[in-house]
Amino acid sequence: MVTYKEVVEAVVELFRKAETELPEDVVEALRNAYEREDNEVARSILKAIIQNIDTARKLKVPMCQDTGIPIIFAEVGRELCLDFNLRDAIVEGVWRATKEVPLRPNAVHPLTRENPGTNVGMHIPHITFDIVDGDGLKLTVLPKGAGSENVSDLKMLLPSQVNQIERFVLEVVKNAGGKPCPPIVVGVGIGSTFDGAAKLAKKALLRNMTEMSEFELSLLEKINSLGIGPGGLGGKATALAVLVEMGHCHTASLPVAVNIQCWANRRASLFLR
Ligand code: SF4
Repeated sequence: MVTYKEVVEAVVELFRKAETELPEDVVEALRNAYEREDNEVARSILKAIIQNIDTARKLKVPMCQDTGIPIIFAEVGRELCLDFNLRDAIVEGVWRATKEVPLRPNAVHPLTRENPGTNVGMHIPHITFDIVDGDGLKLTVLPKGAGSENVSDLKMLLPSQVNQIERFVLEVVKNAGGKPCPPIVVGVGIGSTFDGAAKLAKKALLRNMTEMSEFELSLLEKINSLGIGPGGLGGKATALAVLVEMGHCHTASLPVAVNIQCWANRRASLFLR
């Protein structure tokens, strides 16, 4: 049995963790990038990022002033019985996290730019619900900064343009340059629908970065050969990882989405039962 209070508190704690402690696979990738780098400027930027991460964890403060837009994935066990509205509990958790962590109030009305100050508004927090086997509830938070989200892109390729996927991914990274605070993580969604490809690209960012396929590693190598480097000031580490998720698509389409994430690849999960 999962209670409303447990969900609210879990969401607050997940945001606290995601904002103050970068997952171990991300920290390891940053340390490896530092070891491999021989460009002095790039090394000093990576060193500053690693020190910043350590300080945020020790002092329990957010690692970046942009605490992101709240994105949540809820995997709901089909045998789980809830006597409350799960969305309401998650929304209250975000509202409380904004006050208690605290999170910067980033969510504004798209046209008036009016800010409710709570990170709660129309369709925000952005929540994806999935029904899965079991009797538990897995919650994952992915606070997403604007610097990287703003340079993400999507293209509806034709099925005959399958050999242009790689070129499009490289083009997006090249156009982004130093804006998304590299070294970046590149989430790629191939297939599905217009919106489905974007969702796949975002979901890809939740994966462990140390487990990349040959296709992903070869894309990573090509991205790093662009030489954008940490902070956009040149160097070997433009990206830390490329993570690709695929979905079947219409025979007449080939959607490709590229969701760029900054070095602050913040994510945290927990399981309630
Ligand atoms: S892109 Fe990432 S690291 Fe850069 S300011 Fe935004 S959240 Fe912070």
